[in-house]
Amino acid sequence: MTATINAVLGPIAPEALGVTLMHEHIIYGAAGWYADSTVAPFDRDAVIKSSLSVMKTLKTYGLQTFVDATANDTGRDAGLLKEISEKSGINIVCATGLYSEAEGASPYFRMRTQAGDATSEIAEMFMKEITSGIGKTKVKAGVIKVATGNGRISAYEEMVLRAAARAQKETGVPIITHTEAGTMGPEQVDLLMSEGISPQRIMVGHMCGSADLKYHISVLEKGAYIAFDRIGLEVIHPDTVRRACIVGLISIGYADRIMLSHDSVLRMLGRSVEEAKSLLLPNWVPTHIFKNIIPALRDSGVSAEKIKLMMVENPRRLFSG
Ligand SMILES: [Zn+2]
Repeated sequence: MTATINAVLGPIAPEALGVTLMHEHIIYGAAGWYADSTVAPFDRDAVIKSSLSVMKTLKTYGLQTFVDATANDTGRDAGLLKEISEKSGINIVCATGLYSEAEGASPYFRMRTQAGDATSEIAEMFMKEITSGIGKTKVKAGVIKVATGNGRISAYEEMVLRAAARAQKETGVPIITHTEAGTMGPEQVDLLMSEGISPQRIMVGHMCGSADLKYHISVLEKGAYIAFDRIGLEVIHPDTVRRACIVGLISIGYADRIMLSHDSVLRMLGRSVEEAKSLLLPNWVPTHIFKNIIPALRDSGVSAEKIKLMMVENPRRLFSG
């Protein structure tokens, strides 16, 4: 088990995590963005500048740790995260992982299954990125990110989840997941646990893709953490529905199992979507929870102590076991 957590600038103590957003992105690119030859490479300096301005505001809300959930195949850039952490003073945790079969870059490891044991190759890659670091940056990954599709776990995704569980067992680093359209949460936990890992080292993500409390409880009853981590992404569900679910689950005793985040993307790779994003999704920004959601939860009777569980204690326990 890890006594310390891999942040991009080096190991930190669990107590140093503080207020944590568990699933955000500085940059993210839909797999294949690099094939659009009409798009110039992203302006690194501009991304750093705008990210620092967001981090500065987040700091005023007390944020101490920002988990960047970008997988290896969707534009992860450990060096960029390191520079932003250095300049902002916010801990950033970088992921190792692979996205879903439909939305990630699955052909490579699918092909590797023809050549040998791709599950072991993926597990080995995750472990190397956790224990020796990512390429030349030497940044060590601090979470393992996995994903499944809508209503099914494909053979490719099953392979990635099994590899993640093996790397979790070896390194102690927790697993955070992407679920699609509020499906496959319980199946993810069962599959990961079948490799012998503890549900307490799993955070099932995008649970707010479903408003069905029975679905939420089915994952909670397995002992895993769940994340309402698309807050502000109101094209899926309005935040009022998310708040109702959160308040309901807290009222029956689950505040020690829930985490809150936005899945926001500070800069999409490829053609710019900034205008449409700010027009259609004004609240899909990493300050929204602090500015609007926590005050609304407080108005619904959620205590400061329960907010602290969701924003501080639960992330700390997920990381430190
Ligand atoms: Zn995400």
